Amino acid sequence: MSETAVLPNTTPAPKVGFVSLGCPKALTDSELILTQLSAEGYQTSKTFEGADLVIVNTCGFIDDAVKESLDTIGEALAANGKVIVTGCLGARAGASGDNLVRQMHPSVLAVTGPHATQEVMDAVHEHLPKPHDPFIDLVPGAFGEAGVKLTPRHYAYLKISEGCNHRCTFCIIPSMRGDLVSRPIGDVLKEARALFEGGVKELLVISQDTSAYGVDTKYRTGFFDGRPVRTRMLELAQALGELAEPHGAWVRLHYVYPYPSVDEVIPLMASGRVLPYLDVPFQHSHPDVLRRMKRPASGERNLERLQRWREACPELVVRSTFIAGFPGETEAEFEHLLDFMREARIDRAGCFAYSDVAGAVANELPGMLPLEVREERRARFMAVAEEVSAAKLRERVGATMQVLVDSAPALGRKGGVGRSYADAPEIDGVVRLLAPQKISKQLKVGEFTQARIVDTQGHDLVAVPV
Ligand code: SF4
Repeated sequence: MSETAVLPNTTPAPKVGFVSLGCPKALTDSELILTQLSAEGYQTSKTFEGADLVIVNTCGFIDDAVKESLDTIGEALAANGKVIVTGCLGARAGASGDNLVRQMHPSVLAVTGPHATQEVMDAVHEHLPKPHDPFIDLVPGAFGEAGVKLTPRHYAYLKISEGCNHRCTFCIIPSMRGDLVSRPIGDVLKEARALFEGGVKELLVISQDTSAYGVDTKYRTGFFDGRPVRTRMLELAQALGELAEPHGAWVRLHYVYPYPSVDEVIPLMASGRVLPYLDVPFQHSHPDVLRRMKRPASGERNLERLQRWREACPELVVRSTFIAGFPGETEAEFEHLLDFMREARIDRAGCFAYSDVAGAVANELPGMLPLEVREERRARFMAVAEEVSAAKLRERVGATMQVLVDSAPALGRKGGVGRSYADAPEIDGVVRLLAPQKISKQLKVGEFTQARIVDTQGHDLVAVPV
């Protein structure tokens, strides 16, 4: 994912180019930096050439992302020369143990890890002094509690915590982002309210482990509007649902692990307070593989838990990601995963063929499988996942669903593109909207419409706005 942002052009001011790579969590870091830059009177430039300095927010999760980040830094250096690097890749060491970015691009001005707005701003101030404008300096809250957003106006990511207390053997995120630090619940809710008041119709809650929200603070009681609220996923979901209701907006939860505590959130989904959608990164089903992965909640009976969730909330849509060909995975363990997929009927599933990530503990595990086996298992998994997903999509034909419109050229006279509660932006399918039945009906981006599902198309639904 890559986004650039342009802020309003008010007075002549130093210009900063900005590239944001990586996941939604990196995107929210970018939003914080851009909010601060803007509050201090910097402008942003659309091009590297037109900027006085460039900031690259990098991703360091998988090898392709590392390459993309290093290439982007190279391009920015060639086109502009003054480059500050931040983000996950900035926290990674190279083969010699030195900082990887500095090793590959010694001429960068500064390198920081993720979640480092202040360090990035210090580097900006050093190399591109802050414009002195007493009026701009006085309005750090010019964008309200919500700050600059890089997403379309009608949806936004809400980051509730940073870092992770788990140590999954294939993952280097804790070494890059540190242990779990939950944001105070009062701040999170204030930001959510500002976003809804600013027109956001869909709030996507993100973190590394949303179900662990508040563990680090021992579920401390915080305050919002003078009212006590515990720092815990259940109370958070409840409060977000209440804030969303007057705006008719959606709240979607990402990165939730199948802990018993999640059971309490399902009734909120059944009653429509938050969307009946859960993004649960299972990664595997076999207990031995989960143990080798050191996955959170690996001792839980995931299939039974999922079945109970579905009984309590039949509308529940589950998205998940999996890894095929983890070191030591036997054919029987892999088949266990295929059976799980068929029985659990995961609505949306993604799968990676296992590959080493520099610095991960799993690299040392015995039983690395040949690439062909890992790829072949990934393909077999995806064939089953697609069968399940297509069957589930077909069950929706004939139903009428609420759809949030993402694109509607010419007021949607010829149709547009939207999403139902079952589709998170960028990772799931979409609802392809045909021309509305009534000639007088218009579709507007960021508004809801009812639509009758008439067909399926790959991962997508086809619908007529009614
Ligand atoms: S839960 Fe596991 S995979 Fe997710 S961030 Fe934490 S260590 Fe990484």
